[in-house]
Amino acid sequence: MSYKIAIDGPSSAGKSTLAKALARELGYVYIDTGAMYRAIGYYLIENGIDFHDEEKINSVLDKIDVTLDYDKENNLHVYLNGKDISDKIRTQTVGEAASVSSQFAKVREKLVALQRKLAEEKSCCMDGRDIASNVLPNANLKLYIVASDECRAKRRYLEEKEKGIDTTIEKVLAELRERDYRDSHRELNPLTKVKDAIEIDTTEMTADEVVDYVLQRFF
Ligand code: C5P
Repeated sequence: MSYKIAIDGPSSAGKSTLAKALARELGYVYIDTGAMYRAIGYYLIENGIDFHDEEKINSVLDKIDVTLDYDKENNLHVYLNGKDISDKIRTQTVGEAASVSSQFAKVREKLVALQRKLAEEKSCCMDGRDIASNVLPNANLKLYIVASDECRAKRRYLEEKEKGIDTTIEKVLAELRERDYRDSHRELNPLTKVKDAIEIDTTEMTADEVVDYVLQRFF
């Protein structure tokens, strides 16, 4: 029997760090759904398509093939039309394009179908915004990961600084809040905590502490 872990929460709360570590510890497949929306956002930017233009986006969706694959060390790679774009999608601009275009029904339909297929018959750890509420409503374990706005902004700021991106905590905080607002107020599959999800606040915890806590409490 396969076991499914659904991890949801706002940006930079620690979802993907936890999901990756749990998948590694438990020998499950890690499925990063945000990377899939980012791949579509990246395609739109690369092809000069306005990511607010639903009609235009619908007309090119058939040309966009998103796949996930894993290397020998089990690191996840995201492919767009056969090309590995994993190191190109972690930017603020791609995040914005993903957040805007992920509001559209056909974009979601395409990726949700793919996400469910990837999870079929496999024990997996999937993270995103609508995993427990929509993609895997029968998941065995549903986690909702949160952290204070200031903590999330600081984490994101340090990540960007490490990548050599020139920004400020205030700017990162404003962008995070705007994205969270859009993700939780959109009509289709907004970010939401389902009744049977367990909330974990990672504000005062290190990444390792969060993983240990989940492993000890649930496995
Ligand atoms: O998690 P990440 O920041 O990579 O996700 C990028 C964007 O993709 C989110 O801001 C959200 O708008 C969208 N997304 C979504 N549903 C998911 C995962 C991500 O709408 N399951």
